[in-house]
Amino acid sequence: MSSRVRLVVVLLVLKLVSVHGALGQQASTPAVTPIPIDATEEQVKQAVSLVRAGEKLTPKAWPNGARVAVCLSFDVDNELLWRRTPWPVPLSQGEYGATTGLPRVLDLLDRHSIPASFYIPAMSAALHPQMIQDILQRKRHEIGVHGWMHENMTQVNDAAKEQQLLTQSIEYLTKAIGKRPVGFRAPAWEFSQSTMEQIRKAGFLYDSSFMAMDEPYELLASGEKTGMIELPINWIADDYPYYEPEASGSLPDPDLVYEVYKGEFDMAYRERTMFVLTLHPHISGHRSRVAALEKLIIYMKSKPGVWFATLEQVAEYVKAQGK
Ligand SMILES: [Zn+2]
Repeated sequence: MSSRVRLVVVLLVLKLVSVHGALGQQASTPAVTPIPIDATEEQVKQAVSLVRAGEKLTPKAWPNGARVAVCLSFDVDNELLWRRTPWPVPLSQGEYGATTGLPRVLDLLDRHSIPASFYIPAMSAALHPQMIQDILQRKRHEIGVHGWMHENMTQVNDAAKEQQLLTQSIEYLTKAIGKRPVGFRAPAWEFSQSTMEQIRKAGFLYDSSFMAMDEPYELLASGEKTGMIELPINWIADDYPYYEPEASGSLPDPDLVYEVYKGEFDMAYRERTMFVLTLHPHISGHRSRVAALEKLIIYMKSKPGVWFATLEQVAEYVKAQGK
């Protein structure tokens, strides 16, 4: 790792907390009980038990003997990241995702004939209905649930309200894409006390919001197996912490970001697991960044045994292997 790359990684780690807040958009204090320093062992175990990592679910082999599954995923948040401060100029930064970022990303995926998963908040789709048509028209991609208004569940913190927003989001996307979405990615990657139970009841095939491993695993809820497949994400393999002006790395050279992603992919390849990259069209859809992303795709395609898949395809395969 070069010293420049190391610096980016250090900056990322230092600022993870502020990035997290920024993505959630001006976090209010979530109503959660802190773990007291004199808590008993039992109380500590109880306090962390709401959602935990269960068994690893990486299959013995990926389809056609592939060594690694690669999932490119895009959270199409666009204007909704400025929901709380909707001034025209910042909104235009999000609008860019629809006018330019997404079309450019779709063209890139076409050039390399690879699939991707798109997580779209309902109101983001409502602002730009053409986005869904453009994604569906490729007949290769997946569209999953990413909230109604990109609401952060820890801030909504109201089970009935959350249920209503989740139901509305599923219904909206079902109508827009012509089938019920099977994947859930929590807006701002946040779960409240109620989220796990609600997405289980909704019957999602998989979730992609947690970070307890970097390979597929089963989610446990209060110690119980749920059957819910987790396809985990990570801030390291995301674009927000590197590129957003208010975030940690703050606009570094796309080649440095490429090196970080490449390092993540290389180890996944060596370990024969999975590499999930999470990008945002309004962030990574810019010219120099798409060029770096294309370099990454070309690099990954140059290796034998790389399975490019949607998260839905990975979850279906994992599920089938588990039977
Ligand atoms: Zn998002």
